[in-house]
Amino acid sequence: MTALPDIRARIRAAEAEAGRPAGSVRLVAVSKVQPRERVAAVLEAGQRVFGENRVQEARERWGDLRETYDDVTLHLVGPLQTNKAKAAVELFDVIESLDRNRLAVVLATLAQERGSCPDLYVQVNTGEEKQKSGIAPDEADAFIARCREEMDLPVIGVMAIPPEGQPPGPHFDLLAQIAERNGLAELSMGMSADFETAIAYGATSVRVGSALFGARDPSSVTR
Ligand SMILES: *Cc1c(COP(=O)(O)O)cnc(C)c1O
Repeated sequence: MTALPDIRARIRAAEAEAGRPAGSVRLVAVSKVQPRERVAAVLEAGQRVFGENRVQEARERWGDLRETYDDVTLHLVGPLQTNKAKAAVELFDVIESLDRNRLAVVLATLAQERGSCPDLYVQVNTGEEKQKSGIAPDEADAFIARCREEMDLPVIGVMAIPPEGQPPGPHFDLLAQIAERNGLAELSMGMSADFETAIAYGATSVRVGSALFGARDPSSVTR
């Protein structure tokens, strides 16, 4: 038994409520720090898109699991240190946390060497919070343009994590506007507490962890 059918039903209902086609929203199952059995159950139930926030943990978890489930798609949703960028591009299909120029430069070099690059989302710090990573909203257009045009990086979307304790709607709206005016198709926003709201604002990907897998062990919680 997993909560997967329930989460899928809630996504379908939110799509319908928003007048959007069924299946237009991708569920990214955020499996960080979850015990193996819970991840196995969600895999068994048919989920194939997963999110992790740490390169090392993701490598340990998915290295062999991916031999059994070779159609799994992995998204990196946590901050990426440049010294882990090489490992990240080898493991992930999508990196959602492109959040600074230095990382863009390193990814561009790796892309040239490898002749390929994961799809990239630019993370936007919509709440302009000091402790949170992401490009400031008023710098997003210039950064996205530089990544795509000067560095030839495959930026196809934007991602944000709204501030805690604030209504997320205005943050989702801001992110949707940034995607729209930059011609980006992918909009990653909404987590366990607010994914239905995010779908109403146009999310194409929702990142759901605890509502799907159960609460994370507090002793191993990461950002
Ligand atoms: C942990 C995490 C999530 C999932 O959070 P839940 O509230 O458990 O759904 C989504 N996005 C990012 C970036 C995360 O780090």
